[in-house]
Amino acid sequence: MTQLKPGVVTGEDYKTLVAAAKAGGYALPAVNVTGTNTLNAVLEAAAVAKSDVIIQLSNGGAQFYAGQGMPDGFQAKVLGAVAAAQHAHLLAEQYGICVVMHTDHANKKLIPWVEAMLSEGEKFYEKTGKPLFSSHMLDLSEETIDFNLSECARILERMSKMGMSLEIELGVTGGEEDGVGSDVDESADNSKLYTQPEDVLQAYDKLTPIGHFSVAASFGNVHGVYKPGNVKLRPEILRNSQALVEERHGTGHNPLNLVFHGGSGSEKEKITEAVGYGVFKMNIDTDTQFAFSQPVGSFVEANSRAFKYQIDPDDGTPYKKLYDPRKYLRAAETGIVTRLQEACEDLGSKGKSVAG
Ligand SMILES: [Zn+2]
Repeated sequence: MTQLKPGVVTGEDYKTLVAAAKAGGYALPAVNVTGTNTLNAVLEAAAVAKSDVIIQLSNGGAQFYAGQGMPDGFQAKVLGAVAAAQHAHLLAEQYGICVVMHTDHANKKLIPWVEAMLSEGEKFYEKTGKPLFSSHMLDLSEETIDFNLSECARILERMSKMGMSLEIELGVTGGEEDGVGSDVDESADNSKLYTQPEDVLQAYDKLTPIGHFSVAASFGNVHGVYKPGNVKLRPEILRNSQALVEERHGTGHNPLNLVFHGGSGSEKEKITEAVGYGVFKMNIDTDTQFAFSQPVGSFVEANSRAFKYQIDPDDGTPYKKLYDPRKYLRAAETGIVTRLQEACEDLGSKGKSVAG
């Protein structure tokens, strides 16, 4: 049985974790965090579910982590990500589960962000023998496939020296995560909504000799902005991509490491089907945002006077215990912990942590 040391996993351990998920027929939830409250809540959720977990930051999330008031926005995006990774390196082990540290969608404009994080990662690697992040993502799906793959190859070259993995995107999964892919509307034709297996094969051919990578393919998944039913989920596209690579290269079953973006609101059968085709990671950003905010709304509603007065002007009741930010932030954290139990169940990762 696979067993890894709890904490942030990188390099060979990361590959082992991905392989264990695929072999075990489950996927890991990948949750976007924006600060210590959301990050700690994800660690707690994973510990409760006895599931390993992927923690990721968008560039906007990383900037928020550093502080929205930091004068240099680009530096904030870099240092916020570094701070989150260091936080996880310090604390994750205590939660007794394996944690993948990852950054989310980076389009062409954000290549310098990824490169700056790699510079920080290289410094960290010098000191500790580990990279800061397990993986980064480059989303160049809006560019030509040649540009997409040659840039991915260039960045992966640098990353694989530290044992890092790269997530790439093929096809356009329309959505509004930091404005990437937001120009795709409901009338987009199928070749834009559905990745072609030939493109996946091309990526496999180009990147496999360089290092470890994973592919976000579009199979009708959208980033939470469509009403269910507008675009049909076709997980068979994933199966066809796996089959093409397997046949062309004589590999074993499910050679590709696939990730599922924009999965919020997907039917459980489609998730299970996609996981069966080699999906080891599913992004669930939108749902966890609501799970964090909803309990705050309820708390404020139930204790509305504590959010207007320190001491009630009518009867002198002191409200310190209720407006203490820890009260409503803890409610928010608990919302994430609860929501992620469901996610781990849907993805089959509950009880499957390989941390020993
Ligand atoms: Zn995506």
